[in-house]
Amino acid sequence: MPHDLPKAYDPAAIEDHWAEYWVREKLFAQPTPKAAEQGEPFTILLPPPNVTGRLHMGHMLNQTEMDILVRWRRMTGRRALWLPGTDHAGIATQMMVERQLTSEGKTRQQLGREAFVERVWEWKHQTGGAILDQMKRLGASVDWQREYFTMDENLSVAVREAFVRLHEQGLIYRGAYIVNWCPRCQTAISDLEVVHEEQKGHLWEIRYPVIDAAGKDTGEFLSVATTRPETMLGDVAVAIHPEDERYLRLHGKKLRLPLVGREIPIILDEWVSRDFGTGAVKVTPAHDPNDFAMGERHHLPSINVMDDKGHINAEGGAYAGLDRYVARKRMVADLEEQGLLVGIKDHINNVGHCDRCKTVVEPRLSTQWFVKIQPLADKAKEAVRQKHIHFTPEMYEKTYFEWMENIHDWCISRQLWWGHRIPAWHCAQCHKITVARVDPTACAHCGSEKITQETDVLDTWFSSGLLPVSVFGWPNITAENRADFDAFYPTSLLVTGFDILFFWVARMIMLGCWFAEEVPMPDGSRRSLADSVPFREVYIHALVRDANREKMSKTKGNVLDPIEIVKTYGTDAVRFTLASMASPGTDIAFNIARTEGYRAFANKIWNAARFLFMNVDRAAEIGITVDPDVLGAMPAVGEDAPLEARWIVAELHATAAKVNQSLENYRYDDAANTIYQFFWGSFCDWYLEIVKLRLDFPMDGPESESASQQASKSTSRKAALTTLVSVFEASLRLLSPFMPFLTEEVWHAVYDGNPPAKSIALTSYPQANAGSVDEQALVRMHKLQSLISGIRTRRKELNVPEKVAVPVKILEWNSLTGGSEIVSENLSLVKKLAQISDIELLTNKLDNLAWTVALPTDIVVVYEALIDVPAERERLTKDIAKYEKGIAAAERQLGNEGFLAKAPANVVEGLKRQEAETRQLLEKARAALENLNEEK
Ligand SMILES: [Zn+2]
Ligand SMILES: [Zn+2]
Repeated sequence: MPHDLPKAYDPAAIEDHWAEYWVREKLFAQPTPKAAEQGEPFTILLPPPNVTGRLHMGHMLNQTEMDILVRWRRMTGRRALWLPGTDHAGIATQMMVERQLTSEGKTRQQLGREAFVERVWEWKHQTGGAILDQMKRLGASVDWQREYFTMDENLSVAVREAFVRLHEQGLIYRGAYIVNWCPRCQTAISDLEVVHEEQKGHLWEIRYPVIDAAGKDTGEFLSVATTRPETMLGDVAVAIHPEDERYLRLHGKKLRLPLVGREIPIILDEWVSRDFGTGAVKVTPAHDPNDFAMGERHHLPSINVMDDKGHINAEGGAYAGLDRYVARKRMVADLEEQGLLVGIKDHINNVGHCDRCKTVVEPRLSTQWFVKIQPLADKAKEAVRQKHIHFTPEMYEKTYFEWMENIHDWCISRQLWWGHRIPAWHCAQCHKITVARVDPTACAHCGSEKITQETDVLDTWFSSGLLPVSVFGWPNITAENRADFDAFYPTSLLVTGFDILFFWVARMIMLGCWFAEEVPMPDGSRRSLADSVPFREVYIHALVRDANREKMSKTKGNVLDPIEIVKTYGTDAVRFTLASMASPGTDIAFNIARTEGYRAFANKIWNAARFLFMNVDRAAEIGITVDPDVLGAMPAVGEDAPLEARWIVAELHATAAKVNQSLENYRYDDAANTIYQFFWGSFCDWYLEIVKLRLDFPMDGPESESASQQASKSTSRKAALTTLVSVFEASLRLLSPFMPFLTEEVWHAVYDGNPPAKSIALTSYPQANAGSVDEQALVRMHKLQSLISGIRTRRKELNVPEKVAVPVKILEWNSLTGGSEIVSENLSLVKKLAQISDIELLTNKLDNLAWTVALPTDIVVVYEALIDVPAERERLTKDIAKYEKGIAAAERQLGNEGFLAKAPANVVEGLKRQEAETRQLLEKARAALENLNEEK
């Protein structure tokens, strides 16, 4: 006997309890397998949120999608592992702790590197990773035993091994390079971390004096245009197009750099656009990537004029020490005073900003560490080209290739203190570099002990790019220590957002393929590219927008906090809202009204459970119980079972087939909506109503029934109760991945606290048995439903009070449909559900009675006393107009030869059939109106 559920569904009261239970009982732990053949794995890595992060709507969608798939796969018997962790997030975390220090009046420099890093760890231990606690509360079915942090000891070993190995393979080098420099964060940032924004700026035109061979002014000038005049301090040439006729006479001449006095050459380069500005461009290799390339082509020096903070350095002479923008102002004023400023024009600039702190990025030459990307990128492209990795939606495959075709060497060094410090040591004696797996005490080249470690740390994406291999034990894959790697690599699926397709997804493919290929297969054979990929499937999820389809942003103030919504409506309702709208490539317009609707859905299920339990209790009072063996499987009934039992079982099978199919295709929306229709529409609205009649428990308690009465009903009652409970139990399992909390609570109640497993999540997912969908039952029940709905509608139209039973007359629309047979077989059902006192089946056309149409049956509700003749006349007149309009439209189309020539035959057929049907309806409505007019 099931235990009592509280009267009202209160998500807050049940969700905390189960969330805590799932973690405490380690229900979703997937320990290292003992033998590789323990079922096909389903492995999925959680994209590690920043350790500083807080859950937002995007996470909520991403995690809901992952959890649905993981719970579903687990219930279908796969060895499911969802692996969580957090990212140390170099820039974000360092910035946050720096901000804390600022509020204490300190700087990280005052603390020193070691103390600062210690301080970050302290912060991490106290408050870091709060986002994972939020995930726990939301019931994510991850394996918490395997939780990692990208700075953990074992993962750091992997990072170091990857660096050293790439270095040994000649794929890591140091070089001077133009990087995007953030003067606030004081580090290089990757192209992907630069946000470009159009800004109103200026274009300054400056005259550079032309000088002769002796260095004397010729009195002639060459004008250049620039958007960053302060960088002219680092000019080493001015470039013109070799065929620019305006400047042919200046070929081979030199210029004197204003404000600085340096002599610089005029160079010829086809890259120069003759249409931009004056057609002459200053060349500043240390502060512009294009100029840097030009400098390389012409073997020009690079003069870096700024320090880490964006201040002019000693190279800037009189301007040394000034902030870049202060220097700009002063230099422009000085140029004007010297008569060298030609003019200032307004100009729209595309300015790069630091994604983290929004400071304007300064392109700047610096020495950085790089990964030579080409052999890695080629392999990564090959893996996708050979379909070892599949993208959903498929269009992202194209995006991936476009990016991989244009990929540059990857700058992996960052000038931060928080992160994996580069394992390279500089020698003060021979100036060579020692890269080592174990911290060296002496230079590997000259043996000097005067060595110091590189101060840069690695790009955060270098470590997260290694996760698919490192979380399963790489690089220490030994005979005794490879069960995890063998079982779970490659992972099955990655679910992530478009924004980190290149940051993370592409890097995982490059690093995963590169390093995993070196790991032999369990049998010692060589690993193929197909088995080296980090994941076999990538699902790129969409954006969650607000109800008006606007992107959520703090500036607009339309950001929804998922935790707040969960507090109001419960996790299950929020999850269901997201699922009901999630499909590949479609953004979600999150509307709270929908969440309210799904909160009501949860409530409906709760109430259905309470109704069901009440009936189970009543049955028990007269000795009828459900055999527990029938639960936990797919319900089945015999052909001789009542229609509603055959029908609900058939519906359940059909629903299960559709839901499984939808989830295979990432159609969360179809899956959720199918379950919703089944649970609310079929099970609650129809089946429960019917089964109540079938159980037919006496109103006044078991004593009011005689022993012989009870005995005669016993078999049918037991059958009805069994179908009711088993279909409900299976429905809970079907819904469980979508609404894990509610289903867990109710499922435990079904078993009255003695369930066959620790959680519904560990039971099996409903699968349709092949051939078990009883199509005939579906068709017959559908007819019965339209008949009953038709009578109900007609009763409403006639304002028949709800409790009053009325007689109806039913005429079959088409004798082939077998409608009257279905009615006669289910007479008592129809009578009760439609409040009918008497049913008369007619075989002839009706005469003078008001009637309505409910395909496939005509229904007459005999309730003349209450017919409001004028209202009825109005209704029929409206219907007639509607039918006439429909017929006219169909005639127009069918008379259009162009249409007939082009339209497919079945469309034309359909249209003709529809027209014929409408004509019949019109005829009937006209006849009815005539009857009405005669009657009055
Ligand atoms: Zn910054
Ligand atoms: Zn040395």
